[in-house]
Amino acid sequence: MKNIIFIAPPAAGKGTQSEILMKNHGYIHISTGDLLRKEVESKSELGLRLTEIMSSGELVSDEIVTELLRKRLIEKDTETGFILDGYPRNIAQAKILDDLLITLGKKIGAAIYLDMDVDTAMHRALGRLSCPECGRGYNKYEEATKPKNEGFCDDCNIALTSRSDDTEETFKIRFNAYIENTEPLLDYYKELGILNVIDNSGTPSETSALIESVIKWLTFIVMKRFKL
Ligand code: AMP
Repeated sequence: MKNIIFIAPPAAGKGTQSEILMKNHGYIHISTGDLLRKEVESKSELGLRLTEIMSSGELVSDEIVTELLRKRLIEKDTETGFILDGYPRNIAQAKILDDLLITLGKKIGAAIYLDMDVDTAMHRALGRLSCPECGRGYNKYEEATKPKNEGFCDDCNIALTSRSDDTEETFKIRFNAYIENTEPLLDYYKELGILNVIDNSGTPSETSALIESVIKWLTFIVMKRFKL
């Protein structure tokens, strides 16, 4: 399986799409936001320093995030294929990633850009909920992903929670950081010939169908290369 990078504004649904790819294809989902949140939860010294940066919506230093990512990428389960969600976030990280992957003998097969406008992204951020038990994601404003029983997980029946950085004020900071730092990655991956642009204005299943066509294409290329 070809490894994938997701590029998208905050709250675009990268986590939801990654979950679908995990279920359908067995990809490993690596979200640097999740790795950082785990560090925060552990209440380690590093975690305490991260809390303030992350709840302000600012970016964590490239060194800290890259080290967490490196530790995750050397785990054996990443050998079958992984999705990077939230990394790289800027050109410097893209270059660090290129070097890191060479060292690890891994490659990125596709950068998938989930294209959407700022208002839709903000609406999604403000409606976003997740189950603290199983991690399943919901959106209270969207018919397709709202919980059946308002505020509770369909599977665990546990009260859903929202992220502390999903407020209007923090969203604006995160979105500006995205425009300034992350959007330039589109040209970077276009030049490498691995950028795939997906219209992400529809429902999660519409977006998923478009991503599936990219995966099919990648599989076709692998089969052709190895004459399978
Ligand atoms: P996310 O879950 O991807 O929205 O990330 C949540 C927060 O974690 C971001 O607002 C940043 O503070 C931090 N973060 C996640 N990934 C990175 C990264 N690659 N570089 C710097 N900061 C990051």
